[in-house]
Amino acid sequence: MFAAHCPTEGTRVLLSERHILGVDFDDDVVEIRFRCRCGTRSTVRDRRLRPADLLPAG
Ligand SMILES: [Zn+2]
Repeated sequence: MFAAHCPTEGTRVLLSERHILGVDFDDDVVEIRFRCRCGTRSTVRDRRLRPADLLPAG
């Protein structure tokens, strides 16, 4: 699970890895492209997350 801000709902939402469209890395910052449960697509940046936290093994 990860927390993201949904601009459509105007609030923080908790989403599972199933909502992740893609993950990019820029130095120690991870950029997660996601689709919210309401259908909104957005991006969240987080320094604390690691790939192992997001992507299931295998
Ligand atoms: Zn939403």
